[in-house]
Amino acid sequence: MNQELEKIRQKCETCQKCALGKTRTKLVFSDGVPNSKLMLIGEAPGYWEDQKGLPFVGKAGQLLDKIFQSVGLSRKEHVYICNTLKCRPPDNRDPFEDEKAACREYLDAQIEILKPRIILLCGKVALNSFINTTYGITKMRGQWFDGPFGSKMMPIFHPSYLLRNDSREKGSPKWLMWQDIQEIKRAYDALEK
Ligand code: URA
Repeated sequence: MNQELEKIRQKCETCQKCALGKTRTKLVFSDGVPNSKLMLIGEAPGYWEDQKGLPFVGKAGQLLDKIFQSVGLSRKEHVYICNTLKCRPPDNRDPFEDEKAACREYLDAQIEILKPRIILLCGKVALNSFINTTYGITKMRGQWFDGPFGSKMMPIFHPSYLLRNDSREKGSPKWLMWQDIQEIKRAYDALEK
């Protein structure tokens, strides 16, 4: 791991800035490629993430991996994955404001160290952490916004939402995700040129 990221990870290991530091099993700092141009920010660890210490390893994570694979991307080679919270909220409830505020410095440090060119805001919690809007994810997904350090950010559906919406018909959440991931791949490929 990158030395600077490792320093932040170690800070998180002993962090007690909010109550989740006591209730979590494992810290969930990140997975994937630490010098990636593409970063995905999810919400918070769930049960399996908390058990394994890695983000997006449960059912939603498996779907996320499939979505990336469909355009030839993977967390092994191309993507850095993290969350707005590094510790699991009990019973998978939404993160509280004070928890997000306490954890924000670690997420900001990850972004500053990596300086990704593309940031994917996965789900409403990540969306609301970066974009000041009253619109929900359905309205905001698929559009590019200016992000930190000259990056481009795109809100995308959370894979848990896709798991609850099975249709693949034109206009369905899964169909829209397919449009978005292709647009993301085009933008990623354009960075290489
Ligand atoms: N959902 C998230 O937002 N992040 C994870 O790491 C797992 C599930």
